[in-house]
Amino acid sequence: MSTTDQLLQNARAYADRFTEGSLPLPPAQHVAVLACMDARLDPQALLGLELGDAHVIRNAGGVVTDDELRSLAISQRLLGTTEIILIHHTDCGMLTFTDEDFAEAIAADTGSRPGWGTARAFGDLDDDVRASIARIREEPSIPHKDSVRGFVYDVADGTLREVAA
Ligand code: ZN
Repeated sequence: MSTTDQLLQNARAYADRFTEGSLPLPPAQHVAVLACMDARLDPQALLGLELGDAHVIRNAGGVVTDDELRSLAISQRLLGTTEIILIHHTDCGMLTFTDEDFAEAIAADTGSRPGWGTARAFGDLDDDVRASIARIREEPSIPHKDSVRGFVYDVADGTLREVAA
């Protein structure tokens, strides 16, 4: 049995104990969280978010690309969120390689560089959080920018530290 098959058993048990019913579509806390996909980071548990409370957007690094701007524009313009929380974390995999080396390794394996552009690795957590905040603030399609705050989560002790913009 694959891991996926085992997890599908969990999903059936989840449905059996599901009592929330159909919650409203707009997030109840009017907040969007953009965080790294790291398996040691649980944004909902960390921030005390319940089902229906927030949009949680995740990718490798928690970086701001065009697709995150797309999701944030939809979150704010169509679904009523007004605050944005960015979360990077210590010991992030994105600190361990360069875009060029990764693209070259893919090219060596497949014969071509990735069609999706650059991996968006970074060398400094705080610098990338600040750059991410700046990129959101510069984006015209995102209307609410009064509360765009960035943080670094420590995977070793569970603490969350704000990065001054
Ligand atoms: Zn990470």
